[in-house]
Amino acid sequence: MNDIQTACEKKNRSPKGVNLIAVTKYVSNDTTKEAVLAGVEHIGENRVEGLLTKKEFLNDLSVKWHFIGTLQTRKVKDIIEHVDYIHSLDRLSLAKEIQKRADRPISCFVQVNIAEEDSKHGLAVNDVLPFVDKLRDYDRIKVAGLMTMAPFTDDEALIRKVFSTLKQLQLEIQEKEMPHAPCTELSMGMSNDYLIAVEEGATFIRIGTSLVGKEF
Ligand SMILES: *Cc1c(COP(=O)(O)O)cnc(C)c1O
Repeated sequence: MNDIQTACEKKNRSPKGVNLIAVTKYVSNDTTKEAVLAGVEHIGENRVEGLLTKKEFLNDLSVKWHFIGTLQTRKVKDIIEHVDYIHSLDRLSLAKEIQKRADRPISCFVQVNIAEEDSKHGLAVNDVLPFVDKLRDYDRIKVAGLMTMAPFTDDEALIRKVFSTLKQLQLEIQEKEMPHAPCTELSMGMSNDYLIAVEEGATFIRIGTSLVGKEF
């Protein structure tokens, strides 16, 4: 995607630092497989069943699996051995369940609800640092980074503010140099707003709609 390159150049970033997660919830198993054969390295699903079905279909293809949706505590056991990243860690009860079920450290993103929208999950900005600090007791959780969803709006300034706030939070966490929370990644940006996200420091963008119908 050339536009990602342009956004990176604008900010003096290397495009190598931006990982595309193909969100495959709108497409078939076959289309997902084509994407992977064409070089997509990261697949994201927001439902447990969707992830399990796609993963079984793709079987031995080498892909990193991202769970990006709201994760019910009782479903952790169904996916824990199938995921490489969980993008929606937003409460201690979920952390406890991951700790109980995982047989290895899982790379997690702490989800933040920057704009404090009722319709979205995630911690309020002020709760993030204390939450991350508490996770030090959970050796099966590695805080790989932070994740957010911007409001669905045309207000570019607002979207940018949301993403830059997430970046700011990341820097605050990194300053603490906590071994369990390297927090090197930022999962932000979807079809509507990924260029703004890249400009503001996204390292993982989650793209669904814009990939539908694309030739791989
Ligand atoms: C569906 C989904 C996406 C992809 O959104 P598009 O607007 O289709 O690109 C990204 N993140 C999450 C959490 C999603 O559920």
